[in-house]
Amino acid sequence: MELAYDYPLYRPPSESRSLIFQVTLGCSFNKCSFCDMYRTKNYSERPLEEIFSEIELMGKHFPHTRRVFLADGDALNLGTEKLISVITRIRGTFESIERISCYSMPKNLLQKSADELKSLKAAGLDMVYLGIESGNDKILKKVTKGATSNMIIESCKKAKDAGFILSCMIILGLGGKTYSADHARDTAKVISNIAPNYIGALTLYMEPNIEKEFYEKFGETFLPLKDNEVLDELYNLISDINLENDSIFRANHASNVYAIGGTLPNDKKEMLQKIIHLKEHPELFKPKILRRF
Ligand code: SF4
Repeated sequence: MELAYDYPLYRPPSESRSLIFQVTLGCSFNKCSFCDMYRTKNYSERPLEEIFSEIELMGKHFPHTRRVFLADGDALNLGTEKLISVITRIRGTFESIERISCYSMPKNLLQKSADELKSLKAAGLDMVYLGIESGNDKILKKVTKGATSNMIIESCKKAKDAGFILSCMIILGLGGKTYSADHARDTAKVISNIAPNYIGALTLYMEPNIEKEFYEKFGETFLPLKDNEVLDELYNLISDINLENDSIFRANHASNVYAIGGTLPNDKKEMLQKIIHLKEHPELFKPKILRRF
């Protein structure tokens, strides 16, 4: 039993077993030069009646659902009242529900007041996924992210203050060779400042249809990182992250050279040793054909 989804449909890897309701379609920004996820869609918000009837239908077929993910690209862009009514309906339908989550952009969090975010948390939105991509302002501008490092820090702090579990994504290789050191250093700085509960590191992978635009917007020759250079960047990033409380770090996305993960700060040394080992054994790298964004 599957809903009549409006494809393409995306969700974070950790939501692979979640029930998905599309409350918005597409991405309200849709301009990041490295991302083609919602290029075929115009952003729109689905009528409440449609969402409610899908919740009711799924309530009959999957009454024991524990996790729900609200799609598409930035469900948090929905008006607070509307979003609260969706969350309340989900909580009232699935008795065993443990977690409701969605993607968010920095601007979605910044546009809502602290009270609005707290009321969303109180209604039962537990977790938000936010793409930091890079902590370096020059790179953020070159990839037309639509946010600065300060906006990212401020929005993530707002999310944490409201009580959300925060999962942040960064993209290895996003600055190419020219900015690799800056990317690692400044991204580590931003992550250390925010201290997300989860950190996910992906590796830059572009579908052929957006490569030209990405290179043009970058504004200078983009020199992609080789696999061993991606590992160097990951090494520098992990080395520079300073956290006091536990954050789960995962570089196990399909786009990555190799799956690496652990809990920072405790597993830092072990992860760094693994990267050194991998650099000495390139035969362990995931074949390129198996890597995707
Ligand atoms: S990366 Fe996120 S914010 Fe940027 S275009 Fe893609 S979905 Fe939208």
